[in-house]
Formats: sequence, C-alpha cells, structure tokens
Amino acid sequence: MSTLVIKDLKVSVTENEEERLILKGVNLTLNTGETHAIMGPNGTGKSTLSETIMGNPAYHVVSGSVTLDGEDLLSQTVDQRARAGLFLAMQYPAEIKGVTNVEFLRAAINARRAKDDPISVTDFLADLDHNLELLNMTPEMAERYLNEGFSGGEKKRNEILQLLMIKPKFAILDEIDSGLDIDALQVVAKGVNALASPDFGTLMITHYQRLLNYIVPDYVHVMMGGRIVKTGDADLANKLEAEGYAGLRDELGLNV
Ligand code: ADP
Ligand code: MG
Ligand code: MG
Repeated sequence: MSTLVIKDLKVSVTENEEERLILKGVNLTLNTGETHAIMGPNGTGKSTLSETIMGNPAYHVVSGSVTLDGEDLLSQTVDQRARAGLFLAMQYPAEIKGVTNVEFLRAAINARRAKDDPISVTDFLADLDHNLELLNMTPEMAERYLNEGFSGGEKKRNEILQLLMIKPKFAILDEIDSGLDIDALQVVAKGVNALASPDFGTLMITHYQRLLNYIVPDYVHVMMGGRIVKTGDADLANKLEAEGYAGLRDELGLNV
C-alpha cells in the first residue's frame, strides 16, 4: 500500500505583485485502494491543491508538507513526482508538436521503469489495444500527434487512456467531467473504474455531484475558503447537491 499525506499545507499565488494565501492549512491522507472526491465552490483552491501536489511553480508553498510513502514530494521536480507514481490529468493538456500519442505513452511508461528494462513492444501494444477498446477510441487516435486537433471530449478520453497505460499509484483528476456530455462522461468513468485496485488511489476534484454517480467515492471532502471544512461518505455529495454550499456554510457557521 502507498500513502500520500498532505499536512497543514499553506499555498500562496502572486497577484498584482503581492502574495495571496489560497490554501490555508489543508490536511488529507490518501491510501491506494481508496477513491476520494474534493468538492467545493469555484475559486476555493481545489485546482491550487492539485497543481501544488504536482509541482506547478506558480503555486508557492508557504508551509506544510506533501509526502508519498514518507518521501518529501515538494522538493521534487514535476518529472520526479510523475516517476514516483503521481498522475495529474491536465498534466499534458498542451499539443506537443511532433510527438504521437503512442510515442508519448511509451516514453512515459518507460520513464517509470528501470533504464535497462523498457516495456516490450508486444506487451505495450496488447495493453494499448485493450484500453483503446475500453474507451471506444480508434487506433487512429493513438497515432495522432498528442492532443493536436482533439476535441475537448477527445482530450479527456485521451487523458484517461494515458492514465490506463501509465498506471500511476495516485491520480488527481481535476474537473475531468467539465464539458463532457453524458456519453463521454460514462466512458471516462468506465476508464477510471477499470483502474480500481489495491494499488491505485484517486483524488477527484469536481464542482458537481454528477460525476460521483458514476465513480462512487469512499470519501467526499468539501473545500471552502482554502480549507477542508467537512469530510463524509458519498452521501455528503448528494446532500450538497440538494442543499448547495450555502446550506453547509450555514450549518458550519462559516463566512467563506
Ligand atoms: P478552484 O479550482 O477551487 O475553482 P483555484 O485553485 O483555481 O480554485 O483558485 C483559487 C484562487 O486562486 C482564485 O481566486 C484564483 O483566482 C487564484 N489563482 C489560482 N491560480 C492562480 C494563478 N496561477 N495566479 C494567480 N491567481 C491564481
Ligand atoms: Mg475553478
Ligand atoms: Mg479548479
């Protein structure tokens, strides 16, 4: 089992040449085998948390820690974090000229393996075929240049393909549901659910409860004002859907 621990994390961003504190002490422990969801209103710091975990330099860690099996992640480069087993959907959203999907996937897989032990072509292609079928993707999509000319829905699907192929320890899926129609959402959910195993943990960040009908979380955390203000099970998401964030604000006596 692997464990990702976030302890009293405070993070600021630069706005008009001044530092503004966005995360005000976030605590969260994720084990492999678990699915966690973070919900919360817009602008509350959900993406700041995922970007910080992955190492986006625009987010400045003021204090606190993020560790994977006891190893400090915050001092590691994005690349090192990926090799340690983290995956952030939206990590490679850009179109990368001249690299096909297939080439990218093999490089990403091999980056996590010993230098003298690259994945065999046969194993790679068998896994690729299997996952393309699972996601209703054509082999032609795999041969295309990374994300070039992909529609929004195709990009999302492609991210799930990356996830299925790279098999990280932990995946952070930031609003993977945004802009997806119900069919695409079901395909994306099928992919994420196919990964469920004792060796894989997910942190899903979403504004809406809808996604959680398809990927049922073990834990739901609500973030408001840069803190996790409540943790519950999947029912908490239903309650939020019914009562809105305003209801929770009143219940907890928050003014964020
Ligand atoms: P959420 O994902 O919950 O909607 P974000 O983490 O994206 O919220 O944003 C939290 C706050 O931090 C917002 O006020 C946003 O404007 C600000 N913010 C986020 N990223 C940056 C950035 N790179 N530069 C400046 N401000 C940012
Ligand atoms: Mg937002
Ligand atoms: Mg966000």
